[in-house]
Amino acid sequence: MKIVTRFAPSPTGYLHIGHAYSASLAFQKAKESGGHFLVRIEDIDGTRCRPEYESALYEDLSWIGLEWEKPVRRQSDHLEDYEAILERLHEKGLLYPCFCTRKDIAAEIAKSNTAPHGPDGPLYPGLCRPLSDEERQKRFSEGVPYALRLDMQKALKTVPKDKLVFRELEKGLIQCDPARFGDVVLARKETPTSYHLAVTLDDALQGVNLVVRGQDLFEATYVQRLLQALLDLPTPDYLHHGLVSDTKGKRLAKRDKDATIRSLRENGYTAEEVRKMAGFGA
Ligand code: GLU
Repeated sequence: MKIVTRFAPSPTGYLHIGHAYSASLAFQKAKESGGHFLVRIEDIDGTRCRPEYESALYEDLSWIGLEWEKPVRRQSDHLEDYEAILERLHEKGLLYPCFCTRKDIAAEIAKSNTAPHGPDGPLYPGLCRPLSDEERQKRFSEGVPYALRLDMQKALKTVPKDKLVFRELEKGLIQCDPARFGDVVLARKETPTSYHLAVTLDDALQGVNLVVRGQDLFEATYVQRLLQALLDLPTPDYLHHGLVSDTKGKRLAKRDKDATIRSLRENGYTAEEVRKMAGFGA
């Protein structure tokens, strides 16, 4: 099978050696099969993404020897695609507006001593789920900003549990448990999409049949598999790889300046050495 896969960075900082690993692994999978390697720019967070990081990442990926297909899909150029699928979920009655501020949510969580936690932190306590249509209309007319959340329990009732599986290369079929995330945000207050919604639609639109990404996003696949089921989108295979650690065994993050591809290059390392450091090459 010809593999279509992608590397999907958010341009919020310089790429580090962990990104070099992820992108190189995806590239290798595509090339071995005579398939396609895509780069996708996940820039829906306008406050954190910067054009200079986007140009830097193309430069860094080329420098380590990767080539990708053009044009690159940039999520901020396609907000209307996300709006259209939100509309489909809305028609199914699976979304509700959430007017809560972070402070409202934190205060509600502080009140209860049994606040359930999910992979991304405490679950949304559901404050806006039971609002009546009148209450919602009132807040719309007052111009209160709102996000759109998925009513998780309602959504789960519309999909048979045995459909919520995906194939993880090397591990086999994985049963998803999206309820662990609670009522996830599918459209943020400031933008008509969220990470989960945009990734799910883009992977489908771009014909991605293998998602290669870090183990930190393993459970995110539960939510994305549910969205695929709700929106009749195909399910790719997945390969969630281990995360690259520094010499002390600590996971690398964007803030580890010394581990950026850029600083390694400036410090005289060759592309070959950086590829080796990331676990590729002889
Ligand atoms: N944009 C995400 C990130 O930079 C990756 C999304 C994905 O690979 O699904 O962490």
